[in-house]
Amino acid sequence: MRPLQMVDTKTQYLKIKPEVDAAVLAVMESTMFIGGKVVNDFAVNLAKYHNSKHCIPCANGTDALQIAMMALGLEPGDEVITPSFTYIATVEVAALLHIKPVFVEVDPKTFCIDPAAIEKAITPKTKAIIPVHLYGHAADMEKIMAIAAKHNLFVIEDNAQAIGCDYTFSNGSTKKTGSIGHIGCTSFYPSKNLGAFGDGGAMFTDDDELANQLKTIASHGQSKRYYHDVVGCNSRLDAMQAAILDIKLKHLDEYIAARRKAADFYDAAFKGNKIITTPFRDTNNTHVFHQYTLILNEVEHTNCYRDGLNQFLADKGVPSMIYYPVPAHKQKMFDAFGGNQYDLPITDWLTERVISLPIHTELDKDQQDFIVATVLSYVNK
Ligand SMILES: *Cc1c(COP(=O)(O)O)cnc(C)c1O
Repeated sequence: MRPLQMVDTKTQYLKIKPEVDAAVLAVMESTMFIGGKVVNDFAVNLAKYHNSKHCIPCANGTDALQIAMMALGLEPGDEVITPSFTYIATVEVAALLHIKPVFVEVDPKTFCIDPAAIEKAITPKTKAIIPVHLYGHAADMEKIMAIAAKHNLFVIEDNAQAIGCDYTFSNGSTKKTGSIGHIGCTSFYPSKNLGAFGDGGAMFTDDDELANQLKTIASHGQSKRYYHDVVGCNSRLDAMQAAILDIKLKHLDEYIAARRKAADFYDAAFKGNKIITTPFRDTNNTHVFHQYTLILNEVEHTNCYRDGLNQFLADKGVPSMIYYPVPAHKQKMFDAFGGNQYDLPITDWLTERVISLPIHTELDKDQQDFIVATVLSYVNK
């Protein structure tokens, strides 16, 4: 059996190595390391895949979120409503811009922001909602967009974990997550579903004016070279990453299918277990399984039980991860924003009980059999 890893980017690379190596060498030969045709072609291809009018590449997913907030004109003192149960990047950039993150609960089944909680958190200072499609499952975008329209708010989708996920509205129309809100943001961090060989990110919008603004801000606020209209930053996707991503984009749907197949295998293996709740999949979207995350329903629960499984698996050579052990509102970083004053019992409950198992495009049956048997030997003991 091949050694187990949370993500096996090496085996995935070996399957497309000749093509990737040639593309990287071509960039080296061209010495067009920044910008140019390779980056533009990738942006066009990704926009097409995504069915978004514009795709603006940038340096990473965190920058994408920051630039999105800047492009929408959010100002110090404004409020954005976000889940606390997320990766820190979602909310950190708000704080960096002196925008107040207002943390709300998630749906305990989908792990995504609870629309009812959003409505309750709206104040006259609220400017935007930032749903996160956590672990690859879509947030309830139809309800979120309706709330945003009613209260005249922007929606910035954090789609770092869900690129390629299809969301179907009640009228039957389907859109990719990340193309539903005013701006969608994603990350090409190597372990993401569309991963580069380094850092990368992108923003999506259908609005021409917003697209211009995003492009300008990502490029030192310049509308034309050496003319700087607004305060911006320097955030670029480099050509080597774009060349690699353009190749991997052609495989993205097949990568997603492999992840979903691995998830099906786990679902079947854990079915009916009293302690394990397998990931919920709402019928309105195609979960792309960036993570395969269990909830452990131990009766006398403390996070000791979950952390015990994490350690037990490590001892047996099975990696597992806790995404995320501390919710955003409990991070020291947000003390100054009143983070410690929130009461978010669902978020706290989840952070004590979730555990993510290896999931990637290269898992085989032997590996999954071993992972399942090891997990069950702990929970059934
Ligand atoms: C990875 C990730 C980001 C940040 O992306 P980087 O490219 O690492 O900056 C933001 N939000 C979520 C939910 C993520 O998983």
